[in-house]
Amino acid sequence: MIWYPYAQMKNMKTPYRIVDAEGVYLKTGEKNLIDSISSWWCMIHGYKNRELNEAMKSQIDRFSHCMLAGLSHDPVERLSEKLESYLPGDLNHFFFSDSGSVGVEVALKMVMQFNRNRGADRRKILALKNAYHGDTFMTMAVGDDEDYHSAFPKNPDVIHVPTDIPELERVFREHGGELACFIVEPLLQGAGGLRMYDVSFLEKARELCDMHDVLLVFDEVATGFGRTGNRFVSDLVLPDILVLGKALTGGYIGHALTAANKRVFDGFYGDSKSLAFMHGPTFMANPVACSLALKSIEIFERDNYLSKIKRIEEIAKRELLSFHDDRIADIRVMGGAFCIEVKDGKSLEGFVDFAYNRGVFARPFVRYMYGMVPYIITEDELVRITDTMKAWFRK
Ligand SMILES: *Cc1c(COP(=O)(O)O)cnc(C)c1O
Repeated sequence: MIWYPYAQMKNMKTPYRIVDAEGVYLKTGEKNLIDSISSWWCMIHGYKNRELNEAMKSQIDRFSHCMLAGLSHDPVERLSEKLESYLPGDLNHFFFSDSGSVGVEVALKMVMQFNRNRGADRRKILALKNAYHGDTFMTMAVGDDEDYHSAFPKNPDVIHVPTDIPELERVFREHGGELACFIVEPLLQGAGGLRMYDVSFLEKARELCDMHDVLLVFDEVATGFGRTGNRFVSDLVLPDILVLGKALTGGYIGHALTAANKRVFDGFYGDSKSLAFMHGPTFMANPVACSLALKSIEIFERDNYLSKIKRIEEIAKRELLSFHDDRIADIRVMGGAFCIEVKDGKSLEGFVDFAYNRGVFARPFVRYMYGMVPYIITEDELVRITDTMKAWFRK
């Protein structure tokens, strides 16, 4: 039998069976559902995009996979060349892997070996309160989410700090010399509860990291490619290592990118093999994934997605921010993400079926009813989602 994720199999609600999908719609055969969360935030172009389908098929007709050790290929070379001009600053050294969690693991391994290579004894990792960085062991350790990871032991070498500048300054004063890196989901913490914070915190983080010789790592697996309204948050504040995933391939296939700046890369560069970075996933830089990533970036730029995202943000603000209900604790909107946080998670029980009946696929969690919509969504479709959210409180 299928073992479904994050689910008590004994009483799990039967999942909706999808038989087709197109644009923003998931199709069950009976109902067309607007996907309000872009299949865990990755399907930014929607489903069955003609150009992405074409890019995938034509690469498969050439070859669908070859390893990257001892071999190279046109899709990874073209993607790397594109990324060199596309990504901000000198984040020009690209390590590919097969999922966001592994991309973050790669970043953390880089951080640790970078420090070992330069003979620095820095063992502690600073991360945010309510952080989510993936489901593998080290990503769970830097994460701070009781709802996903309470069954596993805490890591004493990880310090968690809230998104509060005086607290951040205090932690750096006390631990600055022991920190290997500061890893953050910049501006928008996704799985930790759609928490949004100000760029001034990241500017301060950059300043403190420089002052204390600590690497700054941005996990933009969720925020990358426009989700916050910025192309990358790294366009505003430049990290030393950037991790991308989810929307990297337009959501078509799992892949991740860990991009390091020159300083980090140079820490591994030398005559000795023992300095080299020791990692290599089987499917890294899969040619189909690279072809999709190239095409996805091309569409993102050509069709001016940032203006689409700005429109989504304006409509979501207009539809949601003035809404009130006693059960609601907060309503927030940033870029292509919006969230109604309720005081008690019980008041969201039944919302999934309610949304289904109105033609919307939703997946609220803990106390968060939210949208992370495909950027191609029309105003009518977006308002169907926000109307469904509001109607739930008026029923
Ligand atoms: C989803 C996510 C990950 C993990 O990515 P997977 O592809 O699911 O392994 C890591 N970091 C953040 C911020 C995420 O949202």
